[in-house]
Amino acid sequence: MATATVARSARLDRARQVAASVTDPEMPMLTLEDLGVLRDVELTEEGRVVATITPTYSGCPAMATMRDDLVRRLQDAGFGAEVRVSLHPAWSSDWITPRGRQTLADHGLSAPGPAPRHDGPIPLSFLPTRRSLTCPRCGSAEVEVTSEFGPTACRALYRCTTCLEPFEHVKEI
Ligand SMILES: [Zn+2]
Repeated sequence: MATATVARSARLDRARQVAASVTDPEMPMLTLEDLGVLRDVELTEEGRVVATITPTYSGCPAMATMRDDLVRRLQDAGFGAEVRVSLHPAWSSDWITPRGRQTLADHGLSAPGPAPRHDGPIPLSFLPTRRSLTCPRCGSAEVEVTSEFGPTACRALYRCTTCLEPFEHVKEI
């Protein structure tokens, strides 16, 4: 009995490691764990893995890819696997781990600031969000937005007016 429990716990640890190492299709330098997308990994009575994820936003086209990648990687590691999607509470960029933020900075991307609060009335605004950012390359606060929509909807494009380098900012959500 004890041996079975130890084996089960080792199996769960292994499944967690595999799931935590799956990367985001749009920002492959980040794992689903770094992003806070991977919420839970459990084993069923039969030993199947159930991974729970919360997508970064509903309708994010990367969602199906994340799901498929998770199932495939877990299956490659010898697990029967299924992925469940949890939409409440909604994902927030505040869930990006300190390691994830450091990785973004290491890749020249600006990490999101504190997420807007969603518990009150949400003001309708069609203007780009004003953010106080610093350049991930030189640290200057003299930056300007060049486009609210970068290579993906979750990134905005900025330019540093000090070092003149363009950079991407991962949006607060
Ligand atoms: Zn700069």
